[in-house]
Amino acid sequence: MPSLAIIGSGISGLGAAWFLRHHYDLTVFEAGGHIGGHTHTVTVDEDGRPVPIDTGFMVFNHVTYPHLTRLFDTLGVPTKPTDMSFSVQHRPREIEYRGTSLNTLFAQRRNLLRPSFYRLLLQIDRFNHEALAALEDPALGGLALEEYVRRGRYGEDFLELYLLPMTSAVWSTPPEKMLCFPAATLLRFFYNHGFFGLHTQHPWWTVDGGAHQYVRLLTTRERIHLRIPVRAVRRLPSGGVEVATDTATTRFDKVILACHAPTALALLGAEATPEERRLLGAFRYQANDVALHTTATVMPRARLAWSAWNYRLDAPAAPQPATALRTSQPVGLRPQAAEPTGCTRWRKRGRRMNTGPIRASKGACPPAS
Ligand SMILES: Cc1cc2nc3c(=O)[nH]c(=O)nc-3n(C[C@H](O)[C@H](O)[C@H](O)COP(=O)(O)OP(=O)(O)OC[C@H]3O[C@@H](n4cnc5c(N)ncnc54)[C@H](O)[C@@H]3O)c2cc1C
Repeated sequence: MPSLAIIGSGISGLGAAWFLRHHYDLTVFEAGGHIGGHTHTVTVDEDGRPVPIDTGFMVFNHVTYPHLTRLFDTLGVPTKPTDMSFSVQHRPREIEYRGTSLNTLFAQRRNLLRPSFYRLLLQIDRFNHEALAALEDPALGGLALEEYVRRGRYGEDFLELYLLPMTSAVWSTPPEKMLCFPAATLLRFFYNHGFFGLHTQHPWWTVDGGAHQYVRLLTTRERIHLRIPVRAVRRLPSGGVEVATDTATTRFDKVILACHAPTALALLGAEATPEERRLLGAFRYQANDVALHTTATVMPRARLAWSAWNYRLDAPAAPQPATALRTSQPVGLRPQAAEPTGCTRWRKRGRRMNTGPIRASKGACPPAS
């Protein structure tokens, strides 16, 4: 059997290994200390009962994830329905809402009497309709989200209380960076995931018992070397590749780089072809801090607004440095200052969990072109 090295044990690496397991002699190199990459389940004690909590990959649906769904079905991964409800709380302005139903949109009953809140809802509705039409418009290509919003004459509240929280939560990226995001990519993502309306969402699913279940079922045959970062990959003139770690250099017939694009480019080094540089060099990544916590005070004050995803904007703790605002900022479109933001994913039945930061992860940002 020909030999194959796979660099990275996330879903890309493990998925590739699983599909190729009968055709190659497999070796997986993993720089980190656990198998699964961004899939990471932490088991905590809740009233003496072990409870698995996912801190990375958590949800999927059958429409936009056909391959993952098929893989889970084949492996017999236990899954169960979950929800992707979303709330926004803007602490300085004391506004909270949850976008699930009319009842939760008005989780703060005083919003029934706020004309500005009705204007916000009307703008969200207009955005959903116009975005659907814009997907067919060739002029959308190349527009940044900020420009799309400016051309559509959407208001500041729409941006601050809806679009930036929603997009920043989905993309695990600070709101100010979302303004430069390609509008076409974002609108297509919203469309594919059924985010354009209260009743357009596909049913969401999660792995019953924690996502580590699928990792366990996926990793049966291949050799996995944990805590062995690959340092370089070199094509051999005689065919095949050399994979270098800190302790060994090994020849393989083939290699799959199942790590992030900048890492893949660095591993190829000076040998990367112009096409590889163009493609792999186009990706940007955003570091994310993730904490598993039981801090109910970060949740919306109105219980009706508690959601699976809870996006919070706080007042800035101190005046922001001038560099926090980009000079191209059109008045009235960008947030006035870079407010600290946070997104809490709520596990409904969780009452007592260990607290404290558990890991840092990275979220991918597609090419900025
Ligand atoms: C906060 C957050 C929540 C998310 N939630 C969801 C969700 O609910 N549903 C969903 O579908 N998607 C979600 N995503 C996206 C999803 O997690 C990623 O798309 C997916 O994990 C990417 O898998 P991957 O295998 O390509 O990369 P990773 O899972 O990042 O795996 C790459 C692996 O390569 C290893 N590696 C890197 N360099 C080397 C090296 N030199 N040598 C050896 N090993 C190396 C890394 O240690 C890592 O284990 C979320 C993303 C974020 C940021």
